[in-house]
Amino acid sequence: MRAMLLTRAGAPLQATDLPIPEPGPGQLLLRVRACGICRTDLHIVDGELPGLSAPRIPGHEIVAEVVAAGPGVKMPKAARLGVPWLGWTCGECEHCRAGRENLCDAARFTGWQLDGGYAEYVVADQRYCMPIPDRYSDTEAAPLLCAGLIGHRALKAAGEAQRLGLYGFGAAAHIVAQLAHKEGREVYAFVRRGDEPAAEFARQLGCAWAGPSDGPAPVPLDAAIIFAPVGALVPAALAAVRKGGRVVCAGIHMSDIPAFPYALLWGERSVCSVANLTRRDGLEFMELAGRSPLDTSVEVMPLASANEALGRLRRGAVRGALVLVP
Ligand SMILES: [Zn+2]
Ligand SMILES: [Zn+2]
Repeated sequence: MRAMLLTRAGAPLQATDLPIPEPGPGQLLLRVRACGICRTDLHIVDGELPGLSAPRIPGHEIVAEVVAAGPGVKMPKAARLGVPWLGWTCGECEHCRAGRENLCDAARFTGWQLDGGYAEYVVADQRYCMPIPDRYSDTEAAPLLCAGLIGHRALKAAGEAQRLGLYGFGAAAHIVAQLAHKEGREVYAFVRRGDEPAAEFARQLGCAWAGPSDGPAPVPLDAAIIFAPVGALVPAALAAVRKGGRVVCAGIHMSDIPAFPYALLWGERSVCSVANLTRRDGLEFMELAGRSPLDTSVEVMPLASANEALGRLRRGAVRGALVLVP
């Protein structure tokens, strides 16, 4: 099979021919139909996350067709399944036992410790694959698998905020904005100064306001979610939320947060992070996405263009989400 392989952190992916993997006990073999590109892929490829065992095939927003089942697995009823970021958990640690498998000490993640979807085939533990609503095409569905899922989890963490700020208006924020509108919230989009296409995209999606992230918010916010991997946005977002407001950091990696005056946190403001997903999040979000259509804005590129696609994400030259097709 063709695959785009990460041979070491910091190097471009290499187009490689590899044997089709064999599904082991508990696993499915799936033919990849589409794989979205997530900012986490960029952090892995750029060596910003420890714990990579190379060579590795990145990609964890996988929409795929079931081809074969390994020992002990029945072929699932659904021909099409999603393979998300959470690929395996131990089931035994204190977090797993407490229903917080997203925090599992021994978890393995797709495209990081397990081979992912920048390839023609992938094997995945059947217990972590999830159904995808029929209303979405393969490429439309791909960003739901992480951008949508993590966005959903971050939105829940933001609580009952009526006025919600989103910092960084990429794949996740463009889905969260729609979820928030459906719930009757007002969304304020903060983008890099001068990134007028991103601001315009946010306004088209119904945001009440879009403006630069290094400027003031037009109104006091009830909560903010930070998707951009920029630590300086934490004090900026704290300054933008009202007393009692919450700032949710939704990315896996962020540059250092600069020192800031305690007055920004005072008044029962809080900062938290959202890490990974649970299988329950996945089922809940896919059910929601099936009931209430989301308009994912995707640009499709061939698998062989994975390096170009990652480069565009690095430069911020993406509207919505990029999706690779083999
Ligand atoms: Zn565990
Ligand atoms: Zn992701």
